[in-house]
Amino acid sequence: MTRINARTSLQADVVVVGAGPAGSTTAREAASRGASVILLDRATFPRDKPCGGGVTIRCANLLPFSIEPVVEDVITGARLKIRGGREQVRDAEQPLTYMTQRRHLDAFLVEQAQAAGAEFRDGEPVTEVRAHPDRTYTVGTRSVEILTRVVIGADGANGVVGNRLGYEAAASAAVALEGNHVYPDGVPDRWKHRVALHFGRYPGGYGWVFPKGDHVNVGVGGWKHAMGPRLREHLDAFCRTYGFEMDRLEQLRGHHLPMQRRGMVMAAQGSAVVGDAAGLVDPLSGEGIYAALASGTAIGPVIEDYLAGRVSSLREYQAVLERGLMREVDASTALMDIFHAWPDPFVWMLGHSGRFWQGGVDLLRGDATYEDLTYSFGRPGHALLKPASAIGRFITARRLRATER
Ligand SMILES: Cc1cc2nc3c(=O)[nH]c(=O)nc-3n(C[C@H](O)[C@H](O)[C@H](O)COP(=O)(O)OP(=O)(O)OC[C@H]3O[C@@H](n4cnc5c(N)ncnc54)[C@H](O)[C@@H]3O)c2cc1C
Repeated sequence: MTRINARTSLQADVVVVGAGPAGSTTAREAASRGASVILLDRATFPRDKPCGGGVTIRCANLLPFSIEPVVEDVITGARLKIRGGREQVRDAEQPLTYMTQRRHLDAFLVEQAQAAGAEFRDGEPVTEVRAHPDRTYTVGTRSVEILTRVVIGADGANGVVGNRLGYEAAASAAVALEGNHVYPDGVPDRWKHRVALHFGRYPGGYGWVFPKGDHVNVGVGGWKHAMGPRLREHLDAFCRTYGFEMDRLEQLRGHHLPMQRRGMVMAAQGSAVVGDAAGLVDPLSGEGIYAALASGTAIGPVIEDYLAGRVSSLREYQAVLERGLMREVDASTALMDIFHAWPDPFVWMLGHSGRFWQGGVDLLRGDATYEDLTYSFGRPGHALLKPASAIGRFITARRLRATER
């Protein structure tokens, strides 16, 4: 019996698998440099995704266009609380974060990639990625088979591209559970323009309330090994602290956040991984859209050089990240170790010290980096960072072991 291959054969310079912020940015960057690009996603767009949808100003500034059409609230302040303590309200004179819904944000970013010339095919789960000896690749779904010189994995944690091409998977070190409390008549004023952040009860993380157009997004997240089995319990307690009922939350969803193990390979020959597929989530805040856009932006010029034969592989992309984003991941990791060992003084200072709050404002707006913050207490303070983070890790591990007993 003859088997008929019903798949359509296509060719492209670049195939990007996954149309989240990392994939659509990669596709837009490559297409705007003249490459023929096919962007694939298994979901039918617009699609939702478990995410707070917070786009910090530093993140939005990475884009060459405004995301205003999908912004539902502009955050200018925060309501900060540690355990059962009194809430501290801080405000900034400027916008800090845009609140979006991923269903709208991601579709909008895909439209920008299409406008730059990328071909978008949704509802196409990629199941096959093969490297050939002549340095080309085949990317296959049920309906198409694409021959390409470059394949980019933007398919999130444990994505198929990394898996098929032998990349090490990022550790799913953090977990989060979130849902929406809907206000059909509009979000009450008390929740508008500020995020509520709750610390001290969630090992490695925090609880949040993020305002959107007709609902607030309510969630908790933290280290998988410490929070994982008790996520629902944590969210229930968080809801009670802020006057919500967990049972009334809509679209309740849990999800893993991938975290890089330092030294992981992110590019080889004509392939690379970007965004969550490379585990590029900010360890301290859990912010992942920034790194998704930053990695998608960083790889654009490298793809152009590779296709033009000016470089022999995409490895320069990894070098670019090592010089920039990865230094931020390192600084954020060190600050995370310190913060979670001693959250009380840090939350108190955020709530009471103008200088400390301004540091957070500058970070969210991109006027300072994590590395800059590590110099807030001068060179001696910076020199103490490594030992302090090691002590922090030790204290946290001991505390967690004690609570597990
Ligand atoms: C509960 C929660 C809250 C969060 N809140 C925030 C926040 O407020 N702000 C922030 O900056 N970050 C937040 N993050 C992190 C952020 O959601 C991610 O870091 C970000 O989505 C990464 O973007 P990405 O493009 O790399 O991957 P994704 O957005 O996950 O996109 C991957 C895409 O790949 C597609 N795909 C997967 N497999 C295949 C396949 N085989 N074939 C074809 N397509 C495939 C998927 O359908 C998906 O569209 C949060 C995460 C969680 C879990």
